[in-house]
Amino acid sequence: MADLYIIKLGGSAITEKEGNKFEAKKAVLERIASEIKRALDEKEFKLIIVHGAGPFGHTNVVEYDINNGVYSDRQKEGLAKTIKDCNLLDSIVVGTLKKVGLDAIPFDPNKIVEQDNKKIVKFETEEIKGEIAEGNIPVLFGQMVPDKSLNASVISGDTVIGFLAKKFGAKKVFLGTDVAGIYNADPKKNPNAKRIPLIDKSNFEEVIAQTDEAGTVDVTGGMKGKLEKLQEMLQGTTALIFDASKEESFYKVLTGKEVEGTEIRL
Ligand code: ADP
Repeated sequence: MADLYIIKLGGSAITEKEGNKFEAKKAVLERIASEIKRALDEKEFKLIIVHGAGPFGHTNVVEYDINNGVYSDRQKEGLAKTIKDCNLLDSIVVGTLKKVGLDAIPFDPNKIVEQDNKKIVKFETEEIKGEIAEGNIPVLFGQMVPDKSLNASVISGDTVIGFLAKKFGAKKVFLGTDVAGIYNADPKKNPNAKRIPLIDKSNFEEVIAQTDEAGTVDVTGGMKGKLEKLQEMLQGTTALIFDASKEESFYKVLTGKEVEGTEIRL
């Protein structure tokens, strides 16, 4: 079988996460979709796409206080709204991918994942496997899912990626966000921050100590949460974090061309 790549359309890249607005960046999404199509027309590979939720997830979770259990009527109302809003964003993403001719098939994590105290205990992957084998592109996203202890909890797009990379032995994971990788300080707050080109076992601890949670509303720990999840789950798969707001970035990474970023080999 051709190599499997998993790509992440970061919430920071595809939504107005910075302005905390419930809006998709439609023009960015259209450009990324065209770049993925162009790469697939030139090169053979299998693909899973995972996207973040941006404010559609994080802002609701904070507003309704549903990051540590869902019990009250107001929390239940918030849960229903969050699930609906994340699906709304997903329908925009899937619609955009389809418009350029990509065979995108949505999989709502709420229907196929179960957690216990925020950890995955069940993840149905048979249908995902079938779609990949047929040359289609499963699309998953950060979402609220049923939780045995908390009634419902968040699964981040990054956790979905880690799980699927391990499950399907992905060749490479490409994480598109709004900064060109991991720096020795948050590059949005510190203009002198330096990019770290490679993170491996030798510098992981040092890097994690320098990495902040996102400056935006992010209940899954931003860049720091991302790194910790990748370390836990990737096991052998290489990941590249890069700036998806740059023209051609997705086309280049998927076709093996050089792009500024941080490579992670843990
Ligand atoms: P996404 O939603 O695209 O998956 P996140 O918002 O979770 O991405 O993380 C990206 C954000 O993390 C960046 O916008 C950046 O401001 C912030 N960040 C914090 N610390 C760092 C760091 N050391 N290097 C890079 N980005 C960082």
